[in-house]
Amino acid sequence: MTYVIDPPAVSSLAIEGESRRFPIRRIYCIGRNYAEHAREMGHDPDREPPFFFMKPADAILAAGADFPYPPGTKDVHHEIELVAALKSGGKDIAEADALSHVYGYGVGLDMTRRDLQGEAKKMGRPWDVGKGFDQSAPCAALKPVSAIGHPAKGRIWLDVNGVAKQEGDLADLIWSIPEMIAYLSRLFELKAGDIIMTGTPAGVGPVKRGDTLKGGVEGVGTISTKVV
Ligand code: MN
Repeated sequence: MTYVIDPPAVSSLAIEGESRRFPIRRIYCIGRNYAEHAREMGHDPDREPPFFFMKPADAILAAGADFPYPPGTKDVHHEIELVAALKSGGKDIAEADALSHVYGYGVGLDMTRRDLQGEAKKMGRPWDVGKGFDQSAPCAALKPVSAIGHPAKGRIWLDVNGVAKQEGDLADLIWSIPEMIAYLSRLFELKAGDIIMTGTPAGVGPVKRGDTLKGGVEGVGTISTKVV
């Protein structure tokens, strides 16, 4: 196969304890998946079916890299999230089979230009400019299921400059990982290389240049990045 231009590089994530990398096909994200966060964003968590948006595969920012403050915004927010990475996929996946498609898990940040997202919500426009900007998905190295199993409970947290900002527990996910995989697979054919950002707990807020973000998920790992 030859191309008229060089094909884009494959976006990928490091894997702990493994020299090979995890190639990324798509990044699916779920909105408002912890009740306290849904409430802080002004929504009723009890009456809403799940909804999803995407980030481009190349929005990944490697573990440990600085996060460049993006253009066109004055209000960039942190959202700490558990990330599930799929080794296989399909359509109409049953909840009972869903976890068999997961390769591993990581800790990620769904960085958000909240002002542009808010404007899009108000105008009834897509969220892409708020959510899908370059480097909007910092993500730590994945840990394979063979090493850590399937985390279903455990603390999820984020500190900014050492001050606690976000705090929650995976047990409080409104839609569990099997439910998310099953639901998504009824809308899209999921494939190996897809990752799912599973939602953020309460306490989202703005970052500024010079801030150090450090967060983690109990049993999965930690992530840190400096805003530059
Ligand atoms: Mn999010």
